[in-house]
Amino acid sequence: MAYADEVQRYYPRARRARDVAREQLDRLRELDARLDRTLLATSLCRDEVSHAVLPLQERLLGPFVLGGLAGVPFCGVTGMTAYAHHVPDAGAAMIVYGAHVGMSEQGVLGKLSRDGKVAETNCCGALLQAFGRFRAARASHTPHEPALHERDCEQGLLERMLAGRIDDALDHAEPVWAATEVAYHLIHDRIVSLLHAVMPEFKCALIVTLGMVVVNTSPDRDNVVDVRDQDVIRP
Ligand SMILES: [Zn+2]
Repeated sequence: MAYADEVQRYYPRARRARDVAREQLDRLRELDARLDRTLLATSLCRDEVSHAVLPLQERLLGPFVLGGLAGVPFCGVTGMTAYAHHVPDAGAAMIVYGAHVGMSEQGVLGKLSRDGKVAETNCCGALLQAFGRFRAARASHTPHEPALHERDCEQGLLERMLAGRIDDALDHAEPVWAATEVAYHLIHDRIVSLLHAVMPEFKCALIVTLGMVVVNTSPDRDNVVDVRDQDVIRP
């Protein structure tokens, strides 16, 4: 199966990231947001492939980084409040968030060829490590109880957040796809919750959000984005 067909098989509504980025800038203009007074915030995985996918930072201010491993907004209430306070006067806020997953040249979901590396790596590595721990626990008939160490707090928190959500993905025929869906919904729910919690802190007239699943591809291919949620909030 051709590479593009393989992407479409998992993500039939996915489109080229550069097209989505252009549309998002048009969307801001249509909402009368000045691009030079719009502060971008991201909740995307720490992975180096994440932030180049939608090059919105070339036209907007920022980014203010809300996200950590797997794209979860580990910034918490404190980080979201700080972001709210940084949006320019009479400006706009734009929050881009989501999960990501690699696709190898052979069309294997969850694997990624990276610049300068022969071996493919897991992508999203944090999510797949968590998934592997839950699967190993299932196989040994013992519950996975994620540790929360200062030296690895984001991974521990990610696994705690996945507990109770990831079970169906363990049994799914396409487990990497299913785990990525779980991650997306986890991130979306956390972003909505944080926004709700700190809404009075936003003094701007406009908050624009974009939730997506990013399919990271080989360095010489276009990245692909499956847009899931878009919202316009006037605080
Ligand atoms: Zn990742």
